[in-house]
Amino acid sequence: MNKLIDTYGRLHNYLRISVTDRCNLRCVYCMPSDGIELKPHSEILSFEEITKLAKLFAELGVTKIRITGGEPLVRKNLSSLILSHKKIEGIKNVGITTNGILLKNYVNDLKSAGLDGVNISLDTLSKDKFRRITLRDNFDDVLSGINTALHAGISPVKLNVVVMGGINDDEILDFVEFVKDKNLELRFIEYMPFKSNGWTNARFLPYSQMINLISSKYTLTPIENSESVAKNYTIKEFKGRIGFITSITEHFCSDCRRLRLTADGWLKTCLFFPAEKNLKELIRSNTTDSELKKVIVETLRQKKFMHPEIEELVNQENNSMIEIGG
Ligand code: SAM
Ligand code: SF4
Repeated sequence: MNKLIDTYGRLHNYLRISVTDRCNLRCVYCMPSDGIELKPHSEILSFEEITKLAKLFAELGVTKIRITGGEPLVRKNLSSLILSHKKIEGIKNVGITTNGILLKNYVNDLKSAGLDGVNISLDTLSKDKFRRITLRDNFDDVLSGINTALHAGISPVKLNVVVMGGINDDEILDFVEFVKDKNLELRFIEYMPFKSNGWTNARFLPYSQMINLISSKYTLTPIENSESVAKNYTIKEFKGRIGFITSITEHFCSDCRRLRLTADGWLKTCLFFPAEKNLKELIRSNTTDSELKKVIVETLRQKKFMHPEIEELVNQENNSMIEIGG
């Protein structure tokens, strides 16, 4: 029986685990302009500690895990972590979110470990713009990462695009065209404000504008899926599907099933509020499993019903996105 129920009756079955605060890109919308203070390795959870916590979450009712970062593939031997999570009783789905740069090196290991799907982030189809957004030159690596994942038969492969006004909103139709013949789930993500991440009103493009633009050229047919927070659509004769993550203009707080564990072991019950409880300190001080589970359940009971309005989010005290993992 799921014990991860908050005071609003929401049942939590999805855990996002960040395995590192390191990254091989510097995306301007994610990494704060003044950088982040990297944690010493001793502060980062070991794979054994992560797996131990994941087991406890599974005993409490988590069935789905997503591994994220920073960039999760910069952490050595990540496929061994996928394998150990796949073996946890009750866990039905283990996915990963990556910038795709290192995918071509690891895709076979990840597939053999039983990976259930990969989300790849790519915000532009222009090599020059990629450099401006990520401050690095790895555009071709990401493209080959996407191709390798598709050829390896990992499914689903999703493509995350953060849409930013004046930066990549002119590429929305190009991205739609990009998935025409590919088995990709394209997801346009509303740009979320975090401290020092370049967010301004002018840079923000609501999903209604994205959908209007796409509808001026294509007929979008909605796909019903109660499990997905994305609003998903098909286009006739398209292999790829089109989705929107509308965290800002049509938030899905009332259906939120997500919990987050940061790389340094903090439990975070909402993306937009600071992390609440340091579980690393507890496991390193020999807290029993049943005490740990009690702390997790109690922390969840502090979860607020919804995130603050956008104006407040801009100045909200919070971890940066690179520390949270999306
Ligand atoms: N490095 C990996 C990657 O880029 O996919 C995983 C970590 S990244 C923080 C996870 C997701 O968060 C990515 O899809 C990224 O585009 C998204 N993201 C980061 N900052 C964001 C923001 N300000 N608004 C919306 N999405 C954001
Ligand atoms: Fe790194 Fe991903 Fe953030 Fe880009 S979005 S800086 S790849 S963690």
